[in-house]
Amino acid sequence: MEKTYKIAVLAGDGIGKEVMPEGLRVLQVAADRFGIKLELINFAWADCDYYARHGKMMPDDWKEQLQPMDAIFFGAVGWPDIVPDHVSLWGSLLKFRREFDQYINLRPAQIFKGVRSPLSGPPDIDMMIVRENTEGEYSSVGGTMYPGTEHEIVMQQSVFSRRGSDRVLKFAFELAKTRARKHVTVATKSNGISISMPWWDERAAAMAANYPEIEWNKQHIDILCARFVLKPQSFDVVVASNLFGDILSDLGPACAGTIGIAPSANLNPERKFPSLFEPVHGSAPDIYGKNIANPVAMIWSGAMMLDFLTGSSGAGRAAHDAILEAIRNVLATGPHTPDLGGTCSTTELGMAIAKQVAAA
Ligand code: ATP
Ligand code: MG
Repeated sequence: MEKTYKIAVLAGDGIGKEVMPEGLRVLQVAADRFGIKLELINFAWADCDYYARHGKMMPDDWKEQLQPMDAIFFGAVGWPDIVPDHVSLWGSLLKFRREFDQYINLRPAQIFKGVRSPLSGPPDIDMMIVRENTEGEYSSVGGTMYPGTEHEIVMQQSVFSRRGSDRVLKFAFELAKTRARKHVTVATKSNGISISMPWWDERAAAMAANYPEIEWNKQHIDILCARFVLKPQSFDVVVASNLFGDILSDLGPACAGTIGIAPSANLNPERKFPSLFEPVHGSAPDIYGKNIANPVAMIWSGAMMLDFLTGSSGAGRAAHDAILEAIRNVLATGPHTPDLGGTCSTTELGMAIAKQVAAA
């Protein structure tokens, strides 16, 4: 019997609540068109309204409730008027990433016709940024000595495990195998960070030796950032530690135009836990309530979800490609939301994409 994929739907706060209906609209149209069975299950938590009522972001048994899901479709979290951002984030999204071991943060960046890039010339951007999502510089290991005195010292350690590094490097090389360019750039800083980064370089070289068909190089993070802006067409797959990946995965989509189109996947590739798909952008309180948020990032995240669920084969891949083609067409011709220079609503843009997917 054909599998029915269970999708947890968590819209979250602010424009998460506005882009989610469009994400679901296109997801459902694509699933129907390509014969993929989905069961969409709404969860009314992991948002600041829930926090206001319960004093926490999620019920205590959130893990038991989400574990049976095949994936989590997530809008955006954060409403700083009610809950400080670090509380809402650590109380929801960051718990998912850590406790569901979503150790890959995958963020594509592409330039589309109709979207103005801040870079000069017609840059050709089509890259995948692979960020380590569970360890590295974001270790929470450290503390303060002699607090409050003039001798105060604060230290925080980076933690790189062989398992943690090898698995993200492996994911990047496997991903490169599936792409036309077959190229990997490894972000490093082994000329300044003298213990962990030379070791990271060694792990990268050892992994690369398993992939003779993949061209690769390593670049120090400072010059890498400069090249992102000056020569973005030279990148295909870029793999980086947690901190460097965090920086690159905002810079890449920024070079490609509006943050309103940038999607992301937080993956547990072994499928022991559900993976999570969400736009890169946040809840954008400044534009919430007007129905003008760009829903493309949410819709594209849904396309990545279908691709991942089906193991990038058959119907899921076809559905992903059809959604991307529809996004490409609609970005080129309109309608456009205000961030793209147009005047259409969130709903109109979502409906335009859905219509094209249905006709694919
Ligand atoms: P985060 O919650 O990830 O920390 P943030 O709160 O710093 O992010 P966002 O909520 O992403 O930032 O918003 C940054 C800016 O981008 C805001 O001015 C917002 O209006 C705009 N923006 C974000 N997402 C969209 C979107 N989907 N469509 C149009 N504009 C957007
Ligand atoms: Mg925010």
